[in-house]
Amino acid sequence: MVAGGTGTRMRQATAKQLIIVEGLPLMWWTLRRFREALPTAEVTLVLHEGLFGSFRDLQQTHGEAGVHRIVPGGAERFHSVAAGLATLPNQGVVGIHDAVRPFPSVETIQRCFGLAEEHGSAIPVVPVKDSIRTLDEAGSEAVPRDKLRAVQTPQCFDLGMLKAAFRTEYHPSFTDDASVFEHAGHRVHLCEGDPWNVKVTTPEDLLIAAAFVRASMPPEESIPTR
Ligand code: C5P
Repeated sequence: MVAGGTGTRMRQATAKQLIIVEGLPLMWWTLRRFREALPTAEVTLVLHEGLFGSFRDLQQTHGEAGVHRIVPGGAERFHSVAAGLATLPNQGVVGIHDAVRPFPSVETIQRCFGLAEEHGSAIPVVPVKDSIRTLDEAGSEAVPRDKLRAVQTPQCFDLGMLKAAFRTEYHPSFTDDASVFEHAGHRVHLCEGDPWNVKVTTPEDLLIAAAFVRASMPPEESIPTR
C-alpha cells in the first residue's frame, strides 16, 4: 500500500492518508477493506518518512492499522513502489494500492488478484464520465470518450515480472505501475473497476469519502476509538 506522498492538493496540515474520516484515519478504512477481501495477505506499507511519528500516535489512539511492515517512501510514486517491492518475495501476486482509495469493493480486490494470477497482470478501469479534450498550441481538440478508461488500483501483477520491470530508470511517464510494466514490454490486462473506488485527492473528495463510510457501515457498528 503506497502512502509515500504528502498530499499537497488537499491544502490541509494533516497528510490526506491520515485525515480522520468518520472517526478513523482514512488509511485505516483502506486497510479494513483489504483485510475483508484478503484476510491472509501480507501488507507492506510505504509511508512518507515524515509521517512515521504520526502513524505511531494514530495506532495508539485507533488501534493497529493492520500492516506487517513499514518502509519509507521515495521522491516519486515509482520510487515508493520500488521500496515496497524490495520487501517482497520473487514469487506470487502483488497488488499495489493507493492508501487514499479507501473503498474498492471486496469483489474488485478479489477479481484483480485472481485475474493477475491467470494473466500476469490485472488493473481495474472504469469508463470516463466527463468529455475530454487534449490541449495543443492551436487550442484544444475533443477526444472520443468511448476509447478512454480511467485507471484505478489495486494494480495486480506477477511479482517476479513486476520486480524485473522496476529495474529501470525512473521516467516521468510512470504515473502508475501498469506504465512501468508496459515499458518492460508486457501487455497489461484490464478488468472491471468500480465507481466507489475513488481517490481522495481534494477537500471535496473528503465529503464523498465520509458519505461512502456512512453508506457502507452497518448502523450498529461503532468506530473503535480508545
Ligand atoms: O499523488 P497521487 O495522488 O497520484 O498519489 C497516489 C498514491 O501514491 C498516494 O497513496 C500517495 O501517497 C502515493 N505516493 C507515494 N510516494 C510518492 C508520491 C505518491 O507513495 N512519492
